[in-house]
Amino acid sequence: MKAIAVFPGTPNSAHLAELAKPSIADVANGRGVLVKVLRVGVDGTDREINAAEYGAAPDGYNFLVIGHEGFGRVEAVGPNVSFIRPGDFVVATVRRPGSSIYDAIGLQDMTTDSQYFERGINLRHGYLTEYYVEDEEFVVKVPPGIRDVGVLLEPMTVAQKGIAQAYEIQRRMKVWRPRTAAVMGSGTLGLLASLVLRLRGLQVTTFGRTMLPYANATLLDQIGARYVSTAERSITDTAGDAGFDLIFEGTGSSAVVFDSMQALAKNGVLVLTSITGGHRTLEIPADRINLEFVLGNKVMVGSVNASRENFESGVRDMSQAEAEYPGWLRQLLTDPVRGLENYAELFERLQNPNGAIKIFCEVAAS
Ligand code: BGC
Ligand code: ZN
Repeated sequence: MKAIAVFPGTPNSAHLAELAKPSIADVANGRGVLVKVLRVGVDGTDREINAAEYGAAPDGYNFLVIGHEGFGRVEAVGPNVSFIRPGDFVVATVRRPGSSIYDAIGLQDMTTDSQYFERGINLRHGYLTEYYVEDEEFVVKVPPGIRDVGVLLEPMTVAQKGIAQAYEIQRRMKVWRPRTAAVMGSGTLGLLASLVLRLRGLQVTTFGRTMLPYANATLLDQIGARYVSTAERSITDTAGDAGFDLIFEGTGSSAVVFDSMQALAKNGVLVLTSITGGHRTLEIPADRINLEFVLGNKVMVGSVNASRENFESGVRDMSQAEAEYPGWLRQLLTDPVRGLENYAELFERLQNPNGAIKIFCEVAAS
């Protein structure tokens, strides 16, 4: 079967690889789930992997099959699979356990190991192929009612984890009642984080660089979120003296992190999710930022990847979104690319997004 792969370390090495079709017997203890891949989304991580800035091949291979935002249909299950049936729509999680205590309880997204295993990213093959097998433990069911947007589940889980962590941390406040939230970044992740916060009833302001008219601003308007272009108004001006109770940062720019620190309300929480592989340095008003964090009991937390629980809550939020804002999620699926053999187009669009929200490969129709 075909797969889209790269040679990690060699820039622009995306190519079609040939692999043997996997079988349920490849997973121990009869817990294998064989999935036919239908769609796979791509994002900045895939762009970085193809630029050889990130990613590693599994042991014994010189190539890495990419793709970590999978969506597919189950073809067969092993004898000891309990909850998943052939025909079910599913998404598999990304990270696989290492050896820390967190990995041992299913929280490999919290691993303290220096090496981590991520399908399609680091040391494990991904989903941009025709079939994959996986242990039932890592396979999450997607209800047929949201199958059209199932490919958005993995990016949704990044928002889910960050926001769940914020609420978990804020239990320190005993009576934390957030009213206002800011989302930094208005691409796929920013839109999904804005949705999640709107579903929790918060007043949401989402920041992006693009000036109006802007399709993503229209999308935000449809869910009752406000869009602010930082080309017109700064984050700190918009925040005013009160600041935001919760800020979700996912722009990919570390400079925005320090602006966000200055836009946080007293007792507020700032969630960082940007992967910044560069070496940028910056001059900041360090005394003031520190003083305001101390005097205001503020907290800042990093969040990467997502646990199975975040995938499950992502499914529930996507279902609620379909009930509350029918058809909204579908509008994020702007750029389908048909067939694994069109991998060059996939990367071309990632390179020149031109208003694209989610670029994805339509691997098979059904
Ligand atoms: C993925 C995460 C992953 C992170 C770091 C993101 O693009 O969505 O699942 O943990 O990259 O590799
Ligand atoms: Zn990703």
